[in-house]
Amino acid sequence: MGNSGPMLDPKGTKLSTRLVHAGERAPAPKGRPTATPIYTTSSYVYDSIFELEEAFASGQGFTYQRSAGNPSHTQVERALMVAENAAGAMLFSSGMAALYAALQVAGTPKGTLVPKHRGIVAAEDLYGATLVQLNDYFDAQGVPVHRVDACDLAAVERALSQYRPTALLVEQISNPLLRVVDVATLAELAHRYDAQLIVDNTIATPILQQPLTEGADLVVHSMTKYLGGHADVVGGAIAVRDPERVPLLRRIAKTLGSVLGPFEANLIGRGIKTLNLRVRAQCDSALAVARFLENHPRIAKVHYPGLPSHPQHELASRCFGGRYGGLVSAVLADADRDTTWRFVDRFKLILPAVSLGDVYSLVTSPRISSHRDMSPEAREARGIPDSLLRFSVGIEDADDIIADLAQALDAN
Ligand code: PLP
Repeated sequence: MGNSGPMLDPKGTKLSTRLVHAGERAPAPKGRPTATPIYTTSSYVYDSIFELEEAFASGQGFTYQRSAGNPSHTQVERALMVAENAAGAMLFSSGMAALYAALQVAGTPKGTLVPKHRGIVAAEDLYGATLVQLNDYFDAQGVPVHRVDACDLAAVERALSQYRPTALLVEQISNPLLRVVDVATLAELAHRYDAQLIVDNTIATPILQQPLTEGADLVVHSMTKYLGGHADVVGGAIAVRDPERVPLLRRIAKTLGSVLGPFEANLIGRGIKTLNLRVRAQCDSALAVARFLENHPRIAKVHYPGLPSHPQHELASRCFGGRYGGLVSAVLADADRDTTWRFVDRFKLILPAVSLGDVYSLVTSPRISSHRDMSPEAREARGIPDSLLRFSVGIEDADDIIADLAQALDAN
């Protein structure tokens, strides 16, 4: 960065002035840091205002954090592009902020800046807050949202041809029933009807599938989950196939102010380095957990794409390279809410907490978290009774996780 900024003559200034500026804006050190440092600066100084103007005009170089990001963003964006085989990426303050931006971009004709949505076709099985966002910020504001079973390709095609939406939105591995969608065919169908395919790949992670490689247009992540991986950060991101979409994404983050802080970006960048190791271990343990639960007499049903009993087992085997994800859902036999809660309270290792994808093993109930806004009857009708628990398998030893499940199941 050269000498960056006006050069102050220390002799001619008072102590309070010198204390403000002492030691700041030193030239970049000679050795480059091995890991990207956290830049706790909201703005950047240039040698001359001519250079600052050029940085703003070209969009090259850092200027103001909300407008142009910071070095930790750049590092994480590059890592995400590698992970998702993407031509571009943009970070957001949360998964929900990223989803909102993805829906706006999908509805913005290329070469323009303002969304002109014809509508959205969205999977039935979506995260609860996603449903609220679709309802309150799209459907209620004149962008019709139609729901469809995304595993039923004929139904998807019917919805696309009938409603001609600008976006088709699905999650790869849905929560809590862990259903799997055929991304390649959905992309083909979406494009046939002039819609963009958005895949929320938070739960599958790019370790199981890279939706952009299969033809999707935008991939959304809650980086709070597997990418961060350590239960210590909230963040979101979009990865794109068309690099021309990035300036629009940046414009949305900049004008809505949904930007990620540098500390959060740093934690997520650290998390992504071990994503492959963690997810592979979590998938292996989750399969062992699913098999254990399926054979236990106190379990009525297990949902896990790695089990032959799962309705999309064959599709998952074809698309996920022999792994099936780190989440397992199980329904307790003959259990009401109280029996289920008492079972959860017996765990010694598995933590009762919302969220997923952490290094810690977690258990949660859709009743109290993702599906709390639904009536008990509606949940029951969707196959989500109060006795269904969703486990997010951590990186502890699988034997210890299974021993914890066994002691809780076998207690009276
Ligand atoms: N998408 C999925 C599949 C999620 O599970 C979540 C959060 O649980 C989100 C999006 C929202 O992410 P965030 O909490 O980072 O806003």
